[in-house]
Amino acid sequence: MEFHELPLGEQLLIARRGTAYFAQRLADLTDTDLDGDTLLPGWTRRHLLAHVGYNAAALCRLLDWAATGVETPMYASPEQRAREIDEGATLTPAALGNLFTHTAARLDEKWRNLPPTAWAAQVRTAQGRLVPAAETAWMRTREVWIHAVDLAGNGRFGDFPTVVLDSLLADIVGMWCTKDLGTGLVLSIDGRTPIAVHQDSPPQHTVAGPLAAVVRWATGRGAIGVTIDTDLDGPPRWL
Ligand code: ZN
Repeated sequence: MEFHELPLGEQLLIARRGTAYFAQRLADLTDTDLDGDTLLPGWTRRHLLAHVGYNAAALCRLLDWAATGVETPMYASPEQRAREIDEGATLTPAALGNLFTHTAARLDEKWRNLPPTAWAAQVRTAQGRLVPAAETAWMRTREVWIHAVDLAGNGRFGDFPTVVLDSLLADIVGMWCTKDLGTGLVLSIDGRTPIAVHQDSPPQHTVAGPLAAVVRWATGRGAIGVTIDTDLDGPPRWL
């Protein structure tokens, strides 16, 4: 089962559960912990918290675009996005917490009030992809679940709903194929038929383990609980 096959209401529920999961991992941390590093190079937890807040605000802009037809991009430019995160990272812990809570609530309100016909309206992601507004459910789902692990606290891929893990895997393998990366790579998930990233290339490396561990590795969050049969320098880039 893939995320996109679920009814929209269930998709939004999984996104909201991800927000709650992120909020719980955040609650495990003290104010001074926010100065510590995340799993993302160069970003403290402050940067990550600012990013997750501004991401919700950016998705609100896509929903406004879908509702009104007036083009409002997620971010004015990659530079503006980076600057906003750098500035946001200097906010007080309380202000960062409020930013996360308020933007998540605003996104939820936009989802609840979006006219039924607007869900199919085409909007553009920060990567330049044209997608229906309904894709914001998956875009936010990916953000909150993965970044909850990036907080480098108690977040674990093993806590993710299976449908999220399966859909992440499909996204990542699809992206590798599009970019012609991962030639000869085989993902062998416990209890499943192995997946050759490029079906017509001979297998060279196998990464094996439980679903959550293989997906964690594939997202570039470390080789924990996976077996790798040759020395790979980590997974190909995904985003
Ligand atoms: Zn992100």
